[in-house]
Amino acid sequence: MGVSNQTVKTAYDSAMENFNLAADALQLDENIRNMIRSPERILEVSLPVRMDNGHIQSFAGYRVQHSTARGPAKGGIRYHPGVTLDEVKALATWMTWKCAVVNIPFGGGKGGVTCNPKAMSQVELERLTRRYASAILPLIGPEKDIPAPDVYTNSQIMAWIMDTYSMTKGYPVSGVVTGKPIALGGSLGRNEATGRGVYYTVCSAAEHLHIPIAGARVVVQGFGNAGSIAAHLMHDNKARVIAANDSRGCVHNSKGLDVTKLIAHKEKTGGVVGFPDSEPISPAELFALECDILIPAALENAIDGSNAGKVKAKIVGEAANGPVTPEGDAILEKNGIFLIPDILCNAGGVTVSYFEWVQDEQHLFWEAQDVYNRLERVMKTSFAEVLKIRLDHKVSMRTAANMLGISRVAEATTLRGLYP
Ligand code: GLU
Repeated sequence: MGVSNQTVKTAYDSAMENFNLAADALQLDENIRNMIRSPERILEVSLPVRMDNGHIQSFAGYRVQHSTARGPAKGGIRYHPGVTLDEVKALATWMTWKCAVVNIPFGGGKGGVTCNPKAMSQVELERLTRRYASAILPLIGPEKDIPAPDVYTNSQIMAWIMDTYSMTKGYPVSGVVTGKPIALGGSLGRNEATGRGVYYTVCSAAEHLHIPIAGARVVVQGFGNAGSIAAHLMHDNKARVIAANDSRGCVHNSKGLDVTKLIAHKEKTGGVVGFPDSEPISPAELFALECDILIPAALENAIDGSNAGKVKAKIVGEAANGPVTPEGDAILEKNGIFLIPDILCNAGGVTVSYFEWVQDEQHLFWEAQDVYNRLERVMKTSFAEVLKIRLDHKVSMRTAANMLGISRVAEATTLRGLYP
């Protein structure tokens, strides 16, 4: 994270600042702004869990439904020590614009539990998940609000939520969550969908800028599900992934890292550090590396006013949600760096979540290639639509994406009118 001595802005502050920029550029009516800006519904819960040592620990949990204007609320659940209500509100807001940018019939939501899953046993995680699922039960459902994985949650956690929900209903409800195991109604291609979508949008940006992917130097900050899979696809298509990091450290090799081996190394040792054929570097050095494509794929605020000026990439593809602050955005834009904003770049995950939900509702499952083809079409069409707005209105890619998402939500809200 960049160290900044400016007043600390929260993730929700950034979300609202970016909303205002796009709403101004759209000359959006004040009444509509007031109707679509804030979360529709917020639930805060306390989750007592019996730990393996016999003690009872209480965890704070949240579920925020930002919008249901275009369809059921949709968005992941994050397990992380840094989870706060402010962060979940920001993430839920971004989900609303994200689903609208890729034009899938969902609103936006997000959940989170403040916990450190890396320090918990599987049994403790299952107890926490089932307690959280039952606490948010009144809000969720296939027609109301559909959770999915996010940072440090996975298909097993989705399976426990699906089971907890289904037990209270008395019948199996696979469509209540997405990102499930295939055996429970998950979709082929969902696990790698975020990374694959990042890859498609980076290819579109590279094509626009006439940068060949073959030989392009790529830096990946965050080697989790999204970052490692995007890196793998880049590597498979002859790009050179020269640096990667995770919460334990960074590795660098200017000739390129063997991403297949790096993924295996992380699976075996728990991190990228100590990878043969690499040298350790600091996070500050990682952001400042000479490269063509930088993929921030970890948490919010990685690039801010203090370190954006050091970025030398030609393309920044936001695999994470909110990794660049508004101050960081302004500097990247001034320096001519092409940004693919999160609500476009990482929308592949929720797009295949939509495909999963459709398959669950129809009880009819698709082949992997079908999922990839449809995903590629959605990502490339959305990229082209956002780029057109950028060029027509002379705004940043972030503002262009927000304009597209916000205008679609505004249109649905106008058509529905004001209840009562
Ligand atoms: N957590 C992912 C995101 O931030 C996926 C959400 C979903 O599939 O509902 O977009």
